[in-house]
Amino acid sequence: MAAGQKAVINEELCTGCGICVDVCSQKVLEMVDDVAKLVKPEACDGNGECVEACPVACISLK
Ligand code: SF4
Ligand code: SF4
Repeated sequence: MAAGQKAVINEELCTGCGICVDVCSQKVLEMVDDVAKLVKPEACDGNGECVEACPVACISLK
């Protein structure tokens, strides 16, 4: 993954399981109204932990 990429969540597909929030080492994701949100985009390092952990593959790096 290229430097400067950030997590983008497809809210239509998110089931609200919260796994990505738990695995994010930077703690930049939060559940908002049962959907995962990147609440601190400036601190997302694009490491892709959330992408690998999401069971429905609704997170990508862009
Ligand atoms: S890419 Fe890494 S830092 Fe960014 S939201 Fe996902 S797990 Fe967190
Ligand atoms: S892991 Fe995927 S489905 Fe679960 S809350 Fe995060 S984005 Fe939504």
